[in-house]
Amino acid sequence: MTRASKAAALLLAGSMLVGGLAGAGGPGTGARGVDAQRIMNARSEPGNWLTHGGSYAEQRFADLGEVNAGNVDQLGLAWYVDLDTSRGQEATPIVVDGTMYTTTAWSKVMALDAATGKVKWRFDPEVHKSRGQAACCDVVNRGVAVWNGMVYVAALDGRLIALDANTGKVKWSSQTFTDTTKPYTITGAPRVVKGLVIIGNGGAELGVRGYVTAYDAATGKKKWRFFTVPGDPGKGPDGEVSDSVLAGKAAPTWAGEYWKGGGGGTAWDAIVYDQELDQLYIGVGNGSPWNHQIRSDGKGDNLFLSSVVALKPDTGEYLWHYQGTPGETWDFTQTQPIILSTLMIEGKPRKVLMQAPKNGFFYVIDREGGKLISAKGFATQTWATGVDMNTGRPIEVADARYKDKGFLVMPSALGAHNWHPMSFSPRTGLVYLPAQEVPLFYQSDKGFERREGAWNVGIDLLANPVPDDPKAFKAVKAMLKGKLIAWDPVAHKPAWEVTYDGPWNGGTLATAGNLVFQGNGGGSFQAFKATDGEKLWSFDAQTGVIAGPVSYTVKGEQYVAVMAGYGGAYPLTSAFDDPRTANNGRVLVFKLGGKAKLPAATQPVFAAANPPPAGLFTAAQVSEGERIYESTCGLCHGAGARSSGILPDLRRSAVLTDGEAWRTIVHEGALHANGMIAFSRWYKPEQLESVRAYVGAQSRKLAEQDAATAGK
Ligand code: CA
Repeated sequence: MTRASKAAALLLAGSMLVGGLAGAGGPGTGARGVDAQRIMNARSEPGNWLTHGGSYAEQRFADLGEVNAGNVDQLGLAWYVDLDTSRGQEATPIVVDGTMYTTTAWSKVMALDAATGKVKWRFDPEVHKSRGQAACCDVVNRGVAVWNGMVYVAALDGRLIALDANTGKVKWSSQTFTDTTKPYTITGAPRVVKGLVIIGNGGAELGVRGYVTAYDAATGKKKWRFFTVPGDPGKGPDGEVSDSVLAGKAAPTWAGEYWKGGGGGTAWDAIVYDQELDQLYIGVGNGSPWNHQIRSDGKGDNLFLSSVVALKPDTGEYLWHYQGTPGETWDFTQTQPIILSTLMIEGKPRKVLMQAPKNGFFYVIDREGGKLISAKGFATQTWATGVDMNTGRPIEVADARYKDKGFLVMPSALGAHNWHPMSFSPRTGLVYLPAQEVPLFYQSDKGFERREGAWNVGIDLLANPVPDDPKAFKAVKAMLKGKLIAWDPVAHKPAWEVTYDGPWNGGTLATAGNLVFQGNGGGSFQAFKATDGEKLWSFDAQTGVIAGPVSYTVKGEQYVAVMAGYGGAYPLTSAFDDPRTANNGRVLVFKLGGKAKLPAATQPVFAAANPPPAGLFTAAQVSEGERIYESTCGLCHGAGARSSGILPDLRRSAVLTDGEAWRTIVHEGALHANGMIAFSRWYKPEQLESVRAYVGAQSRKLAEQDAATAGK
């Protein structure tokens, strides 16, 4: 044994002792004992899950082997907790000394006994449901951070809230939005770094300007703010730390009146602290509007869109950046999860960050200075053929920018990989990546007009109709694929793959038991052998599982936990199947020999299609209604008025045959308290009546299909 490994073994033994005491209800109970030192040493206490990604390196690797490839078939449900919502569940739970802190839809927080599921406290920030309209991709939340006796949640409406870890009572609350009238939202998990809570936001589909802000963890006082894209030059500098780099480096890469749509660049997911180099990495999102021709006259790289930006955590000062998609025009965010590690590359240890953003390239980047080490496609890419390693720029396919004519782009806005967390096992050296293939036909919206507060993407969303013909429908559906890829980041190729029927599958967890855990959109939560992908175990979760699992111990016993509940961007916008079961969200926790059982799945109740009488509307009304529906309503209620069960299927709505009720709800906002805002903001009553005509026509098709099925 070398001196270093001896020291490590001693440290490990010591921390196990502390962990044991704390687990028995000692002084470490709750999040009180989680400070800088403890998070820095998170790897030495694998029985806890102290940060969003398990440790600052965010590898999502549980160094626990009680549950392993040899006995995972004995894994059973230890406990579950029902949630009060049918909206999507994307949170990664945090576990500290026997207490689990997690979030559900609408930014609600729960503290649970991690061994039994007993609820210790709940916190509801009472987000006004009208904010849901600004949430491009469901009213989800990806989790909390803990630090010095506090639990931090970022609410959909922009409030960053510190709660007492023992009671759930509010200690402080700070509004993080620069302008609460703008369509900003937060779905991401805050991170605590050196006594600062750091958070970004979303909203680039609708039209905002991205930034991240750091707050004093004890008081909620703002410490610094970094804007990711330049602002309106007519308004002068922001008076923030980003001013000089935006003026010197970023502004020259923008053209036209880019500030009118906010520019985008929201940092809505990855915020990762590098404790070895004392650097903070933020993943920056897409442009607003998506279409580079409209946003920036088709000119310039538009820094720092679609980039990883390294900052000094204490001050927010710019250090370096790498931009994966210069002049972004496809909603190619680079906000996807970032993992830190040291890899042996050509015989030398390199401190790297790994990221697989929407554009389909797996990047390995040297953290010391940001130099690109490798970039390799992990999914079908029609927009680029590779990356020029001299410049670090993608080699684009002619016409992929859909300037003069439309182009079928893969990957697309849903990404070859989205927010679903990937994991890395230092034992296998593989990254377990939830990948997908979802094509989108991009066609410039020639008559683009900005609508404040609505979707403003600059492409024609009607260019991707869901076909009515069953054969064509099947063909489109067959193009949509999901994969679990075990990616070798050194050899840059897959070691093995598992293929799923559809996209939008769960985040992954790697463990020292030679296991990878992953849920899928079809409702299975599964374990695979980390070395070769053999499927070893499966559990019927009764709803799609999309969140990232975690593992922890209480009193020495290993648990595996995941938030179950289908939702998010894909099911909201693209419904291809009726839901198999009612979408009940749950916390699911497993252990060896677990004997708990879920109640029988609730069968979804489908009301009959309810079309208004044929001949009530003109073809022109149906056509106008289609245009409005698909560019506005369909973003939540589903393309073609098909719902996947997250929001109501309007083809079956009782109010479809009642013009007065329709107007009161859709135009005037009678169901505003449920999140169905008044669309009088953008449309006249007669236009919304045309939407009824279109949904009515879709409803009639459904009625005919149902009649044909019943007659068989
Ligand atoms: Ca986006």
